Amino acid sequence: MRAVQYHTVGQPPEVRRIPEPEPGPGQVLLEVTAAGLCHSDVAVMNWTAEEFPYPLPLTLGHEGAGRVAALGSGVDQFSVGDSVLVYGPWGCGQCHYCARGKENYCPHAAERAIRPPGLGAPGALADYLLVDSPRHLVSIGDLDPVRTVPFTDAGLTPYHAIKKSLPKLVPGSTAVVIGAGGLGHIAIQLLHVLSPARVVALDISEDKLALAREVGADEVLLSDEHAVGKVRDLTAGRGAELVLDLVGSDVTGRTAAGCAGVESDLTIIGIGGGSLAVGFGLVPFACSVSAPYWGGRDELIELVSLVEQGAVHSKVEVYGLEEVPDAYSGLESGTIDGRAVAVPSGGPPT
Ligand code: NAD
Ligand code: ZN
Repeated sequence: MRAVQYHTVGQPPEVRRIPEPEPGPGQVLLEVTAAGLCHSDVAVMNWTAEEFPYPLPLTLGHEGAGRVAALGSGVDQFSVGDSVLVYGPWGCGQCHYCARGKENYCPHAAERAIRPPGLGAPGALADYLLVDSPRHLVSIGDLDPVRTVPFTDAGLTPYHAIKKSLPKLVPGSTAVVIGAGGLGHIAIQLLHVLSPARVVALDISEDKLALAREVGADEVLLSDEHAVGKVRDLTAGRGAELVLDLVGSDVTGRTAAGCAGVESDLTIIGIGGGSLAVGFGLVPFACSVSAPYWGGRDELIELVSLVEQGAVHSKVEVYGLEEVPDAYSGLESGTIDGRAVAVPSGGPPT
């Protein structure tokens, strides 16, 4: 089968032929129907050889959807042909966190080398994907996998972050979204669906600001040195109740702290390598700063319900598997509108 593999640190990924996996006991083999490209993959491919934690070559892709192709022994929860999403942050399944669906915070995953597909385990940017447990699959019925697959990460990560802040997003409140890309364009919609907050989107690109408007941002602002003043003007000096930093650089950290109000949540999702000084006088009084990771299994199920209701959608650019290396270049240079999604069956025949 074909697989998009990162094989050498510092080199672009390549489409290679590798053996098709077979499901062992308790596992599920999917024929991949869609796989999303995330900026985290770009970050991973920019790590140095010393920093790189996974075995190489690595089949990329941590946003996956597929049709069940084969079931390992003992799996009877799904049937061949079922259309599913893959819950990516695999945990041990047994601990305190996993029991509550929060496999994203499983403290045993790393020590037992349980890694998400595409981030250590073979990923979804391939013809077939092996899933370690039916627990990590969510049925999507007749939903279009191509437009649904971004919800496994680009949707789930902001959903998890926003849910925590809902008590602060009362009528008259403001939420600021920094970065209107793959995650950002879904975060803006989720804020509207889940809360009455006014949504202000910041980006460095006019095209991304146009997308932010299209998906419902109430205000859009260029993310420059004037942005903080404009957000404070829009909020009568009070600042925002929630700031989602979907970039995570030093610059956006400063912008986020400047936009945040007293008793606000400042949530850093982007892994842009920046840091933010937190201390008395450095962030607004009683501002809660957190850096969450991905989301819970229960939250992916909730999110699929929102997609079924038509409450949120994703904007996608579709690529064949062979075009994925170029699509990653586009993601790095900021030219993807919404989410880039690879469709293995949509590429040139091989
Ligand atoms: P993306 O490339 O699709 O979107 C990033 C957006 O940020 C782009 O629209 C870009 O123009 C904008 N941007 C860049 N610099 C900016 C600045 N200074 N101010 C405002 N906007 C700016 O990326 P994505 O796939 O949506 O991922 C967003 C971030 O979230 C990445 O850092 C990714 O690694 C991270 N991520 C984290 C988690 C987690 O669990 N914490 C999960 C998924 C993604
Ligand atoms: Zn991701």
